[in-house]
Amino acid sequence: TEQPLNDLVIDDVRVTFDGFVAVDGVSLRVGPGDLRFLIGPNGAGKTTLVDAITGLTPATGSVRFGGRELLGRPVHRIVRLGIGRTFQTATVFENLTVLQNLDIAAGTTRRPHTLLRRRRTVPDEVQRALETTGLTGQRDRAAGTLAHGQKQWLEIGMLLVQNVQLLLLDEPVAGMSHEEREQTGQLLQRVGEDRTVVVIEHDMDFMRAFAASVTVLHAGRVLSEGTVAEVRADPRVQEVYLGE
Ligand code: ADP
Repeated sequence: TEQPLNDLVIDDVRVTFDGFVAVDGVSLRVGPGDLRFLIGPNGAGKTTLVDAITGLTPATGSVRFGGRELLGRPVHRIVRLGIGRTFQTATVFENLTVLQNLDIAAGTTRRPHTLLRRRRTVPDEVQRALETTGLTGQRDRAAGTLAHGQKQWLEIGMLLVQNVQLLLLDEPVAGMSHEEREQTGQLLQRVGEDRTVVVIEHDMDFMRAFAASVTVLHAGRVLSEGTVAEVRADPRVQEVYLGE
């Protein structure tokens, strides 16, 4: 069978709320396995664009992942195509352990009572997610007791066990300590090795460690695109950031 190319092709996407144009004809392409940062001042349309990609808000235009059109599909079908996202506030089951959270996400168990039993074996994909996210040592802790950064990593782990091929992350390092940022950077490098990743980000310094491209949105449109250094040097980008 033919392996689809996991590229994300966004073509002329528009989102309007009651006549207000939040995303105004955005086109961009993220190559298979590439990492792309999406930046821009508050209100630029970053979250709304990700909402459109993941089916949370209606949009016109076209969004294709691996050749498949996403616009018009309900959220659960988009999820089934291997597309996952995180939100700025991590949504994990606070009263369950790290392992139980991953089990639920993996669909390893659909029956809550089996979660209460101690299991001897951990499914491969759950074990891999624990290792990738660096949470192996935390697996039996209640998620609610994790540090802020660890919760974010768990949420990413919950997407990894679902075999996500396109990962969309909304400001993953917001509120993190310097050390957590560094670790998140390493996690993104690992996660991005065999997945397409789009990261909404605010922190230019965080992005500098990556050899990734950056798309700058402003007022619902693509203002600039290039390496971190290129968009930083772009006078149009400097202007909208100074005006913030
Ligand atoms: P960003 O993520 O870049 O900060 P958003 O995508 O959240 O920007 O918002 C883009 C614009 O769309 C903002 O002006 C925001 O107020 C507006 N907006 C977002 N969601 C809605 C909504 N559900 N209804 C009306 N306006 C919205």
